[in-house]
Parts: sequence; structure tokens; C-alpha cells
Amino acid sequence: GDLSAEQEGIVIAHFGQLLSVEALEGEDKGKIHSCHVRANIESLVTGDRVIWRAGKDFTGVIEARLERETILQRPDNFGNLKPVAANIDYIVIVIAPEPEPFQGLVDRYIVAAETVGIPPVILLNKTDLLTDENRKPIDEMMELYESLGYHTIRASVKPSYVMASQEDCSDGDSSGNEGMSELLDWLDEHTSVFVGQSGVGKSSLIQALLPEHDIRVGALSENTRKGTHTTTTAKLFHLPSGGDLVDSPGIREFGLWHIGEQELLEGFIEFRPHLGFCRFRDCHHEKEPNCAIIGAVASGEISERRMESYRRIKHAIKDQNERGLMLR
Ligand code: GDP
Ligand code: ZN
Repeated sequence: GDLSAEQEGIVIAHFGQLLSVEALEGEDKGKIHSCHVRANIESLVTGDRVIWRAGKDFTGVIEARLERETILQRPDNFGNLKPVAANIDYIVIVIAPEPEPFQGLVDRYIVAAETVGIPPVILLNKTDLLTDENRKPIDEMMELYESLGYHTIRASVKPSYVMASQEDCSDGDSSGNEGMSELLDWLDEHTSVFVGQSGVGKSSLIQALLPEHDIRVGALSENTRKGTHTTTTAKLFHLPSGGDLVDSPGIREFGLWHIGEQELLEGFIEFRPHLGFCRFRDCHHEKEPNCAIIGAVASGEISERRMESYRRIKHAIKDQNERGLMLR
């Protein structure tokens, strides 16, 4: 009766049973309605494309969910996968000279991205903090990822106090920021998430990209203080220059969620052509004879750094699992 015709929309946030849906077409385009879900549509998340009908006073009803291109899922305490955000195109892994980027940690983020089938982009932030000491290992790390086919970007969002204390900002635009236009180009027409270690500059980057918004992620998470879990409720933001960002405290920790051993192996993309060619079917790629992975390291097809990183992560996962079992 009071509802408009069916139209396409996108879920930009959710608050309990209510979902914020932005109209993608028609007179309402760009307007946001607070919607109920009509039928038993399972687990709608931010980024989902939906068919919905607008009601009075910016209300509405969601009738159907359109097919997802990608889905970010996180395992709950029982190991069941729970969707967190849909239709993400890029996982931007932010690293910085400070805190020092450890290969194992960066690889872990990459493996997580590979596991969900969303291309990772490696973003080195705080290039203003590169020194004669840290430049070489960081350059080598970036080159290694480039050689694996990953796109890398370098940027700097200098905080205002750093700019004020520096006379020379000639290496960037008038804001003192560097590499932001390349980042903006890359984000345009896509939906991205920013992940990475605390302190690498994710908030600063997001703030620089979304100047009108107040992106204190803490404000989005009502539950964080109550329990040990960070809320996974994500919000979608439009970038003024084009493209969307999906952000939440939970998403920023993506990559540190649980991964299985097989996922880990397949998450090292350069290992893939060698999988299945070991002499032993149940090869652990440790010290077995005629191991195809170890062979590829010996021939230089797989870098020693990545192999070492793989082993480290594998042992860390094992430790985690054993400790997890003990706690239960
Ligand atoms: P997050 O934990 O990843 O969200 O990191 P924040 O955005 O909170 O940044 C951590 C610290 O690094 C803050 O003190 C920022 O001001 C600083 N920071 C962020 N980006 C840059 C940068 O490009 N250069 C420098 N020098 N500092 C930065
Ligand atoms: Zn093997």
C-alpha cells in the first residue's frame, strides 16, 4: 500500500534489525532509508546490494539480496563463518616504517586476502619516516610483493604537527600529503577496506580521504567496552573523489582472524603451481625428500624470505590451535 516500487539499493550500515539502505536509482538516489527485512533473507551485511521498497519518512522494506561478488567472513568462537561485509574489491594492507613491518605479519594479511579471494594492495604509509637505515629493508619488501604481482602504493599523510615543525613540504601537494592522488585513483570506482597493524596510519588515511566525516571508529562500536570482541558492524562511506570505503574496528583487524593450514599454503600465491607435486601426498614441506616447495626455494622460484615467513606463520597457527584446545 504505502510502499514504492521495487528498486535497487546498497546496505551502508546496520543497527540491530534495521539496515540503512541507500537508493542507487530513481528520484530517491543517494537518499538513505532505515529498512526492515521482509522475508527470511539470511545475514545481510554492509555492502550488500538489495532490492527494496521505500516507505514513508525514510523507512523501507528489503525484499531480496542480490548476488555477492565477494564476501568478507570472520569465524566466530565456534569456528562458524559469519559475513562481515560484501562486495569488497580491494583489501588495502597498510604498512609503515613505524611500527616496523614484519614480513610474517604482512604475509598473514595477504594470505587472509587471498583466502577470501579479494586482491590485496600493499600501501606503504609514512614515507616521510623513511631513513637511510630503514629504507633498504622496506624497499626490498615492497619489491618482493611487486614481483609477486601485487600492486603497491607509497603515501604519506603527515599529521599537522609534523608539517608545522617542517619547513620543507615540497615533496608533496600543498597539504604535505604524498602519493594520495595515486591512492585516490586506485580507490575510484571500487569498494575498499583498510587493514593493518595498529599505528600504521589507517585512521589518518581514512580521515584524509574523507575530510567531511568524523571517522572515529570507536563511535561505531557500542559493544567494545562490554566484551572482549570488537564489533564487526561495518559502515560504508563514499569518497568525494569516487569509490567507497567500508570500515569498522573488526575489519581493520582482518588478517589476524583464524586461518587454516591449507588456506595458509594456498595463500602464498607463488606456492600454488607447485602444490600437488611433492613426493608425499601429506608432505609438510619441512624436511621431506622431493618436496616441490622446497625444490622451488632451491631453484629460486620461491624466495627464502617467503618460505621462512610461511613456516613462521604455520608454527604460530599451530601454537594458537594448541593453546585454544587447552583453554577449552
Ligand atoms: P591506525 O592505528 O592505523 O589507525 O594509525 P593512526 O592513523 O592512528 O596513526 C598512528 C600515528 O601515526 C598517529 O600519531 C598519526 O598522526 C601518525 N601518522 C599517520 N600517518 C602518518 C604519516 O604519513 N607520517 C607520519 N610521520 N605520521 C603519520
Ligand atoms: Zn612438500
